[in-house]
Amino acid sequence: MELIIGSHVSFKKDDQLVGSVLETISYDANTFMFYTGAPQNTSRVPINSELTKKGLELMKLNNINIKNVVVHAPYIINLANSNNFDFNVRFLKEELERVESLGVDKLVLHPGSHVGVGIDQGIQNIIDSLNVALKDDTKVTICLETMAGKGTELGRNFEEIKRIIDGVELKDKIGVCMDTCHLNDSGYDLSDFDSILNEFDKIIGLKYLKVIHINDSKNEINTHKDRHDNIGIGKIGFDNLIKIIYHDKLKGIPKILETPYVEKNPPYKQEIEMIRNKEFNENLIKDILE
Ligand code: FE
Ligand code: FE
Ligand code: ZN
Repeated sequence: MELIIGSHVSFKKDDQLVGSVLETISYDANTFMFYTGAPQNTSRVPINSELTKKGLELMKLNNINIKNVVVHAPYIINLANSNNFDFNVRFLKEELERVESLGVDKLVLHPGSHVGVGIDQGIQNIIDSLNVALKDDTKVTICLETMAGKGTELGRNFEEIKRIIDGVELKDKIGVCMDTCHLNDSGYDLSDFDSILNEFDKIIGLKYLKVIHINDSKNEINTHKDRHDNIGIGKIGFDNLIKIIYHDKLKGIPKILETPYVEKNPPYKQEIEMIRNKEFNENLIKDILE
């Protein structure tokens, strides 16, 4: 099976999905992830069905399977904070509709930060929100992202993710997105990824794993920072990331890069090329800048 690899791309109001697909093609990627608007706010323009149709046609012509495409929910949505319960649920429902109208079936969501109410109450708030937002006819899977454990972030280990899933009634509409930078920062040793996968399988179940964010980390293991680095440049390192990307048990799962731009230049074309070659490019940063 062919490696399914892509990156975060933009989704602009004027060309929408068409622009996202063209950007993906420019990186020689075969999948992508985008926010339906700015990640830091919840203002959204209506999805244009003509542009969606054109985008989907462009994908077909370029062998990009919509089943591998991912939308990321804005990170200011905090389901763990019950103060905004009605707003959060309304936004999440609308986002699920937008995602569905684009033909996408995976929405990555940060579980949220409890901001003082405590872990148990925070987890309960997330569960309550998901149970209201998800309906029998929801066609999109909400993929809870494993977090770095910055501040009061929840979902910083598999046990917390499992507790959320346990509380959700419609479990077939829930999945998990592993983020390698976040795993490292929350204390998982990625040089022993087989053990991590075994633990994930035992606690949550591998069938829930739907997306993997591939990022290096600027920080050492267990530092709870969440600062992504370019592939092979950070503390996780190229060889450990390659083992994850090409892991036998993860074939068929989309791998998405969210590595930082280098002086305003997207790094994805060069990083994807290096990943396909399975060899670290000593001139990576220089090549990105060219
Ligand atoms: Fe994320
Ligand atoms: Fe991520
Ligand atoms: Zn992150």
